[in-house]
Amino acid sequence: MIWNLGSINADNFYRVPHLPGPGETLAATDFQQGLGGKGANMSVAAARAGARVTHIGAVGPDGDWARQRLLEYGVDTPHIATTETATGHANITVDISGENNIVLFGGANQALTNQMIGAALAEASPGDTLLLQNETNGQPFAVQTARTLGLKVVYAAAPFQAEAVQALMGQIDLLVLNAVEAEQLESAAGRGLRQLDIADIVVTLGGDGCRWHSSSHAQAETFGAYPVKSIDTTGAGDTFTGYLAAGLDRGLPMKDAIDLAMKAAALMVTRQGTADVIPDLKDIQDHDF
Ligand code: ATP
Repeated sequence: MIWNLGSINADNFYRVPHLPGPGETLAATDFQQGLGGKGANMSVAAARAGARVTHIGAVGPDGDWARQRLLEYGVDTPHIATTETATGHANITVDISGENNIVLFGGANQALTNQMIGAALAEASPGDTLLLQNETNGQPFAVQTARTLGLKVVYAAAPFQAEAVQALMGQIDLLVLNAVEAEQLESAAGRGLRQLDIADIVVTLGGDGCRWHSSSHAQAETFGAYPVKSIDTTGAGDTFTGYLAAGLDRGLPMKDAIDLAMKAAALMVTRQGTADVIPDLKDIQDHDF
C-alpha cells in the first residue's frame, strides 16, 4: 500500500493569440481545466499501475471536484483535508507558437499540519510505502514518522531544493531525480551520487531512459527508453515515479519495476495532458513494445 504525501492542483490552460505584456488584458480563445500537481499525478499513476494508494494532501473549499476526480481514478481520499486556503493551481497561458507563461499558487498544498499527516500514517502498516515530492509542506515530519513505523520511503525530489534533499539524507530508500536535478544535488553536496547515504537512486534521462545507482552495486546501470513518437512530455516523470513506486510496493525487483515505469512513461509522452491521460496496465499490455 502506498501513502502519497502530495500536491493537488487545478491546471488551468488558457489559449491566447500572444502572451500578454505588462498591463495588457487579453481574451483567451480556449480554456480547459485539468487535475494536476506532481502529487496527484503520482497517485493516479500508482493507482493505474494497480497499487492501493491513499493520497495525503489538502484542497481548499473550492476543491471538491479534485477529490472526486482522484476517487474516480481509484485513489483513496479520506486523508485529503479541506483548508480555508484555496486549492493549489497553475494558470498556464499558451500562445499559438506553443510558448507559455505559468503562474503557480501553492495554496492548500502548503497548509498541511503534522496532525493531518500523522493521522493518515497512523493507519499505515510496516512494509507500506511513503511516496513524497517537494510541492507540499510537511516532508521532514512525514519521513521521520514513516521510518518509525517501518515504511519504505520513495522521494521524488521535484521541484528540486537541495536543502530539502540534504535534510532527508539517510532516511530515504529510493530517490528519483531527473538529470538536471542530479547535477544540482551533486554540486550542492560536493559529492557524487554514489557517495550519498541513499540505498537506491534512479536518475531519469528523458528520451535516453534512466540510470539506476545502487549502493550495493559497483556500477550504475543504464536502461534505454522505449522508442515512441513523443508529442508532450508533461507528466512523464510523474508517471514514471508513480509506476516505479507501485512496482516496488508490490514486490517487483528494481529492474522489473524500472521496465514497467519506462513503458508507462513512454506511452505517456505520446499523449497530451496530465493526470487525466496517464496510461493503465491494460494500455501497457495492449501496446507492442
Ligand atoms: P517531466 O518534468 O517532463 O515530467 P522529468 O524531467 O521529471 O519529466 P524525464 O527524464 O523527462 O522526467 O522523463 C521520465 C521518463 O519518461 C524517462 O526516464 C523515460 O523513461 C520516459 N521518457 C521521457 N521522454 C521520453 C521519450 N521521448 N521517449 C520515450 N520515453 C521517454
